[in-house]
Amino acid sequence: MAFPTTRLRRLRRTEPLRSLVRETRLTPEAFVYPLFVCPGSGMRKEVPSMPGVFNLSVDEAVNEVREVRALGVPSVILFGLPEKKDEVATGAWAEDGIVQQAARAIKREVPDVILMGDVCLCEYMSHGHCGIVKPAPQSLGAAVAAPPALTTEYEIVNDATLEILTRTAVSQARAGIDMVAPSDMMDGRVAAIRAGLDQAGFTNTPILAYAAKFASGFYGPFREAADSAPQFGDRRSYQMDPANFREAMREIELDLEEGADIVMVKPALPYLDVIAAARLRFDVPLAAYQVSGEYAMIEAAARNRWIDRERVMIEALVSIRRAGASIILTYYAKDAARVLG
Ligand SMILES: [Zn+2]
Repeated sequence: MAFPTTRLRRLRRTEPLRSLVRETRLTPEAFVYPLFVCPGSGMRKEVPSMPGVFNLSVDEAVNEVREVRALGVPSVILFGLPEKKDEVATGAWAEDGIVQQAARAIKREVPDVILMGDVCLCEYMSHGHCGIVKPAPQSLGAAVAAPPALTTEYEIVNDATLEILTRTAVSQARAGIDMVAPSDMMDGRVAAIRAGLDQAGFTNTPILAYAAKFASGFYGPFREAADSAPQFGDRRSYQMDPANFREAMREIELDLEEGADIVMVKPALPYLDVIAAARLRFDVPLAAYQVSGEYAMIEAAARNRWIDRERVMIEALVSIRRAGASIILTYYAKDAARVLG
């Protein structure tokens, strides 16, 4: 039955009608708020490229988590800015590492928060890569083609990195982290972390795997926030090529086989097709990370009064939810919760 019998505008006439037939509902229960924890006390240092996002000392992070919970957001994920960086990411797995300190304080003061820990090494490595770096034998062709400074070849060593990642995850669980979230993109990390957690008695600690994490230009502001930009090269040898959809499905499938409890697609907005396909294909909770660049673009345009900040914020989050992500990691968790509440 077509026009004039069918008129889709009938149900768009008023807000109550639109609300009645709304297909996707956004609620604060879906949000995870990222926190960047740094040494010191009473520290709240705004990240220039991410207005409204701060590096927080442990005491300030505790206050932040209280506020997040009061707004109805159930969860936060911790990233750490260590005092010192080295070649084996000591700060990531040390008993008194910055994330471990924050986890203990947060769980003591706000026990009902779901506390996630990002498991990666880049913030703790002097070179800023997500794994152990080893110089690679140089090819003769490369040595001839370019001057020596440009031919420094290196490799991010996969299997040796797994051991440090596992150690990091176990130490986070010991400190009270409820769910570990490996973001490094090494092969086999989920299985290694699962085995390590089980061996240490943390059989009930779930793993949220950054399963399909793309090598993205949208991470720029995060690297400023977490001081984790690689000192040389880039992350294309471990993060995924933005052009590859089928490979994303394989990454998710493998992480599930290795024991991931929740899988994530990152970034969100430029990869809604990947989220939608993953939702149809895999019957597990699906998360998406609305990354720093997605946030910074909206903030920058809103500051120029080129867009309506609140409207675009909600629209972007609704689109991620509509694509199929039931969990959204977002710097807008607090602001969106205020709008929705
Ligand atoms: Zn990393």
